[in-house]
Amino acid sequence: MSVVGDNLNKIKASLPSGVTLVAVSKYHPNEDILAAYQEGQRIFGENLVQELKAKHESLPKDIEWHLIGHLQKNKVKYIAPFVSLIHSVDSLELLKTIDKYAAQNDRVIPVLLQLHVAEEETKFGLTLEECSALLRESAWKQLAHVSIQGIMGMASNTDCQEQIAAEFSRLRRFFESAKAEYFAECNEFSICSWGMSSDYLLAVQNGSNMVRVGSSIFGARDYSQKH
Ligand SMILES: *Cc1c(COP(=O)(O)O)cnc(C)c1O
Repeated sequence: MSVVGDNLNKIKASLPSGVTLVAVSKYHPNEDILAAYQEGQRIFGENLVQELKAKHESLPKDIEWHLIGHLQKNKVKYIAPFVSLIHSVDSLELLKTIDKYAAQNDRVIPVLLQLHVAEEETKFGLTLEECSALLRESAWKQLAHVSIQGIMGMASNTDCQEQIAAEFSRLRRFFESAKAEYFAECNEFSICSWGMSSDYLLAVQNGSNMVRVGSSIFGARDYSQKH
């Protein structure tokens, strides 16, 4: 078996049932994706729109592509025809733009609201207050072509396990309260996307049911490669 396939199977074996694995293939070539595909993996995550589009065009059509990176409004049109889940919605404006292009493609696009709970200022996402305000405003309820299906977040880049666990718990508590207040009748609102290579087991212990794992499957990324 390939190294990638072997890594993938080890990660899968470590996940409880009910946890979805998104294999984060950004900066990795198609052959690595196919090695994971060979082992049955069908959900892949990318964080650049152009790379996502190119890979979608050249790889098997039963792959479910997730966008996990920051999305600019002017790029939504490139992924609207096929994207399976957008993890990185961080404004009402973006939600409206996704709705518009989803409608043009005659589909409903599933999305997650990205929350910022990490200490780094560079990370994208809504603060809990901003996200509460967005949900309270209820303009999103008019958008028939987006389906808000849960919450996405990232923990701080730290070795402190307690801090990471505390940040994941905040995400989980926010998910629970949003569920109770706005999505009690909505079965689709069920996704808790947090946890990466370094912290996915801690994430699962703290309420995640969708982990986004890249380097532990595909190895280190080579950022000098052009895409
Ligand atoms: C790159 C990336 C990941 C995967 O990171 P690894 O540490 O390689 O597992 C997960 N989530 C997001 C948003 C990313 O950009």
